[in-house]
Amino acid sequence: MQNKLFIDGRFVDAVSGSTIDVLNPHDGSLITKIAAAEAADVDLAVAAAKRAFPAWSRMAAAERGRLLLKLADKIEENLEELAQLESLDTGHPIRDSRGLDVPRTAGCFRYFGGMADKLQGSVVPVEAGFLNYVQRAPIGVVGQIVPWNFPLMFTSWKMGPALAAGNTIVIKPSELTPLSSLRIAELMAEVGIPDGVVNMVPGYGHTAGQHLAEHPEVGKIAFTGSTATGRRIVEASKGNLKRVQLELGGKGANIVFDDANLTAAINGSAWAIFHNQGQACIAGSRLMLHEHIAEEFLDRFSQLASSIRLGNPLDPQTEMGPLTSLQHRDRVLSFVNVAREQGGRVLTGGKAPGNSALAGGYYVEPTIVEARPHDRVAQEEVFGPFVTVMRFSNDEEALAIANATEYGLGSGLWTRDLSRAHQFANKINAGMCWINCYKRVNPGSPFGGVGQSGYGREMGFEAMHDYTEARSVWVNVDAVVPPHFKR
Ligand code: NDP
Repeated sequence: MQNKLFIDGRFVDAVSGSTIDVLNPHDGSLITKIAAAEAADVDLAVAAAKRAFPAWSRMAAAERGRLLLKLADKIEENLEELAQLESLDTGHPIRDSRGLDVPRTAGCFRYFGGMADKLQGSVVPVEAGFLNYVQRAPIGVVGQIVPWNFPLMFTSWKMGPALAAGNTIVIKPSELTPLSSLRIAELMAEVGIPDGVVNMVPGYGHTAGQHLAEHPEVGKIAFTGSTATGRRIVEASKGNLKRVQLELGGKGANIVFDDANLTAAINGSAWAIFHNQGQACIAGSRLMLHEHIAEEFLDRFSQLASSIRLGNPLDPQTEMGPLTSLQHRDRVLSFVNVAREQGGRVLTGGKAPGNSALAGGYYVEPTIVEARPHDRVAQEEVFGPFVTVMRFSNDEEALAIANATEYGLGSGLWTRDLSRAHQFANKINAGMCWINCYKRVNPGSPFGGVGQSGYGREMGFEAMHDYTEARSVWVNVDAVVPPHFKR
């Protein structure tokens, strides 16, 4: 298992020699110690990325694409190993790592590999005698900061479009979960992605991350994480006015109307909040129920939640693993008291499981809490297996509650009324809306939010465009002599 920094095609120790413990969230045991990047390491990584940029950006786009396609195949060949690493490091149930994380990572690199030579410029119809064409040029060295909740997948979401567009990269995986990303770095070298094109510097946010965001040679910073840190990134980026793309927190409204297919809505709502232990920015963490179906829904939903199999992430029977860190587990549990203090009702869960086999791990039972729209648990991102339930009596009220948050990332609704579905999809203030489903993602479909959920989009053509600059070129085809100052 790789545990060093990846700079200029080689695995190296940190300049300072410092390391960070990587712990297994299932039992708190030490998996390995990783090299901890600091400012000096980030400088070396940026210098390597800068040296690699001219050749990588001038390489035929089809050739860059071919390397990403090879990488996608390589990831699939190594599916089992990557899945095991991801589950060990993050606590994702192995069935999700095998069935979702690794295939989606390969799929994302494949999508952008295919897109590398499809990114076209344009010709602008200007005055006679002149030709104006617009090229999409790569930005240069880009910085990327990836959190701990979906390390493998987010690595591909960030690196895929940036590489396809011809940029070189310095990426900071979270120091909590760097292992699968470092394995991807090895696979990149194996398929022939040149040295320096991708550099990985796992380390703390306030040192390595902050330095990367401030770095004068970095042209863009793409960040996924909390809204508070997103603001710090914007502040840090000011020095050289680098471009910023932010994918931040969420408090997704998941609305069930009284005409919904209840069985589908109950299963879908469990997926919306309990997948990955609720550690997802798009989680359906505000469950809004029409008052006519609320009782039956909650009965069945609570039964389902209580039956979810918690356990060792490496066990194929496990449906929910531990949270990724102890600190985060404690933060999630603290919201149970926050809810109670404001009069919220805990319907299910609200504590660590009693099972002694899980005692050393960072587990939390699936938790369902009923509260009011302006309570803290209906406003703040908990980022755990914790869903806040609210009731509504008509469409107007549902829309008002759905939009009564500063976030605007994911949202969902369950109804058989087609016109209501489309109306809500347009009126909910969110970057994504799922109708009679939840949390579907595809590399072709833009992903991102509005409001305090950030700006810019990952995936799709939007992501490729966001990793390029428009360069406008004017040609005086007819050799027209400018009329001004004509002598
Ligand atoms: P942060 O936003 O603080 O961390 C996300 C990433 O940013 C980590 O790699 C972190 O490194 C890095 N980072 C932290 N500070 C800086 C900085 N000053 N400059 C550059 N990078 C920095 O989130 P937390 O991990 O503390 O989680 C807190 C909450 O944030 C969660 O409960 C959740 O609500 C939200 N969150 C949202 C995510 C999403 O998918 N949108 C992902 C993760 C968290 P380090 O780990 O060393 O601090």
